[in-house]
Amino acid sequence: MAGRKAYADVSLCKGCGLCVEACPVQAIVQTTQLNEKGYEVIQVDADKCIGCGSCYTTCPDYVYEVR
Ligand code: SF4
Ligand code: SF4
Repeated sequence: MAGRKAYADVSLCKGCGLCVEACPVQAIVQTTQLNEKGYEVIQVDADKCIGCGSCYTTCPDYVYEVR
């Protein structure tokens, strides 16, 4: 697990906010930036991310990869 980080493909994000709630260290924020589908997407702060995988298991739209 050491050094693992979450990577988000925000082109798949629907802005539901579930991952923002799921992250134990508040590493994910909702932005007002729109993706090509017109959804306000999230952003991950890699410095805060501890690689726990909660965002990966929570997101219904397969936005995350943790590696
Ligand atoms: S892997 Fe864990 S710490 Fe990192 S962004 Fe996802 S929920 Fe937050
Ligand atoms: S759970 Fe997935 S779809 Fe919902 S805001 Fe987070 S990344 Fe976007």
